[in-house]
Amino acid sequence: MQIRYRYRIYPSPGQRQALARTFGCARVVYNDCLRLRDTCHAAGEKISDTEVQRRVVTLAKQTPERAWLGEVASVALVQACQDARRAYRNWFDSLSGKRKGRKAGHPAFRRKHQRQSVRFTRNGFSLHEERLYVAKVGDIKVEWSRDLPSVPSSVTVIREPDGRYYASFVVEREAMPLPACNRDAGIDLGLASLAVTSDGEVIGNPRFLRAKERKLARAQRALARKQKGSANRGKARHRVAVLHRKVRETRLDHAHKTALKLVRDNQAVYAEDLCVSGLARTRLAKSVHDAGWSQFLRLIEEKAAQYGREFRRVGRFEPTSQVCSACGVKDGPKPLNIREWMCAACGTVHDRDVNAAKNVLALGRRESLNACGGQVRPASVLAPAGETGTHWSAA
Ligand SMILES: [Zn+2]
Repeated sequence: MQIRYRYRIYPSPGQRQALARTFGCARVVYNDCLRLRDTCHAAGEKISDTEVQRRVVTLAKQTPERAWLGEVASVALVQACQDARRAYRNWFDSLSGKRKGRKAGHPAFRRKHQRQSVRFTRNGFSLHEERLYVAKVGDIKVEWSRDLPSVPSSVTVIREPDGRYYASFVVEREAMPLPACNRDAGIDLGLASLAVTSDGEVIGNPRFLRAKERKLARAQRALARKQKGSANRGKARHRVAVLHRKVRETRLDHAHKTALKLVRDNQAVYAEDLCVSGLARTRLAKSVHDAGWSQFLRLIEEKAAQYGREFRRVGRFEPTSQVCSACGVKDGPKPLNIREWMCAACGTVHDRDVNAAKNVLALGRRESLNACGGQVRPASVLAPAGETGTHWSAA
């Protein structure tokens, strides 16, 4: 399985300049690709991927306006073309309905003050004597916080808005299956807490993360008040970027630990597919939570693959919070402030989130069975916690 390993790197001042040039060129090529594809699309003209690359890289280098593209490693420019192609294709597939889920918007143009990145494949970088060699940049010092499990197939060099540099390697890692266990869980992603499991366990967001988020919100308001182009605005922007990183790192760390625990404790984990999830989302809640949720699900997926466990995103069009998990009767919509309700049909009192998680679990088990072609899997795997079958104890 392929996985990313990220390290902090410390380019010298000269290397920073060279990287800035590479970031700039990759950004321009990416944006040129999008513009060219837009123009062709508007004119009803089909254009091949190689033709796009020929025009925005090869031919562009020969013009005075884009001659400077020749100063950076061409492998970085080719990768930028491919990134743009993928972004454009995703958008297109989403428009035509080929891609499931919420409609994706037109791919965004890359901007200077955002996170900058360039990707290099095998012929654009190498590792030797503890350093990372990047084409036309040089040998960059790396802080090897852990060992790479194998030779990386590509590296993305990143400059975060707070001024830190990172190298993110794609490596192949062997799966290490854990001994099988006889539990499974459904999870319901939440707003107040990160998630609630079908066993009723609340996975909260750590208090220090909320404190950092409040600090970040304050800094963002301060930035909005600063005069455009002023030195104070620059300082405020840096402060926001630093706080952003702290929130991001804290959230990621928490998500890693939580995901690992879920995967270790359960043979199968089911979660509602974010694309079809019926979560009430305001614009703010969407921007704040979507990133955190999809990161969390991605980590569970990665860890499940690594430890030989099952992870499944389930989707259905009936809201999980409205259906009684005990008798299956749809009880009607419930406003978000109703935390507990009693099923009118069977009288079971439900916690809103735990009930949703139980429905996700039931749905996950069903989809999991269907995926096996209707074959009944060992009962031990599907039995809920505490219902260990004789088959299992005999093993
Ligand atoms: Zn009921």
